[in-house]
Amino acid sequence: MEYLGISAFLAIALITLGSTYQRGLTLTRDFGDWFVDISSLIVHFFILPVVGVTLVYKLLDFSLPNLKGSISSTPWTNIGLYLVIDYAWYWNHRIFHADTPLWHLHSTHHKPVHIDVFITARNALLSHFAMVYLWLIGAASYILDDATFFMALVAFGTVVNLWGHSHLNLKTGSFIERIVSALIVTPRDHAWHHSRENSRCNFGTVFNVWDKLHGTIHRPKLGPNSYGDASKTTIWRQLFWPF
Ligand SMILES: [Zn+2]
Ligand SMILES: [Zn+2]
Repeated sequence: MEYLGISAFLAIALITLGSTYQRGLTLTRDFGDWFVDISSLIVHFFILPVVGVTLVYKLLDFSLPNLKGSISSTPWTNIGLYLVIDYAWYWNHRIFHADTPLWHLHSTHHKPVHIDVFITARNALLSHFAMVYLWLIGAASYILDDATFFMALVAFGTVVNLWGHSHLNLKTGSFIERIVSALIVTPRDHAWHHSRENSRCNFGTVFNVWDKLHGTIHRPKLGPNSYGDASKTTIWRQLFWPF
């Protein structure tokens, strides 16, 4: 299913670069930022899915082999498992933003001063191992007797995450915007999460229900004025040692 995410990335990247205004903003990156963004995308699409599933499968084969294929794949078990993982990620993400050293693991994602689809996967390499979904997606696909539908949900989440980092906002107040934003994190929501004014909000990446449930949803009519952290940080620090 990874091809769905890659296709969505390419489509959004082409739309971004096809807009003179957005292209101008995207191309303000220096070499270091391009390096961190593109290498993170390669890790996200081509390395992590293999490493995560291999690690989890080996661990579970060793410790809990009876779990393999033990849950019957129905729409509700798949959706239930996916919602549990999305909720776990909400808390994982919220804890990253608390005043603890864990923030450094997530800080690379919040460096850019401009938000576009190219920053979607930017993270320090170590941080991936502190993200619950790396482990839980592998575990869910291990315990399901058929993970096809579950992986389609994961691909849907990837597409929402890519869209959330784009400028492709739905028209405010339109019928489709009201339907989508009732459940899904929109680019406007995630832009606030990257803002300098108030980044401790909108921790959900796919569904916004967790932010609504815990009072961390932030949806003012206007978007933020500025993003990220303009201070210079080396490629080494952003990718390998963010502490
Ligand atoms: Zn964050
Ligand atoms: Zn983000």
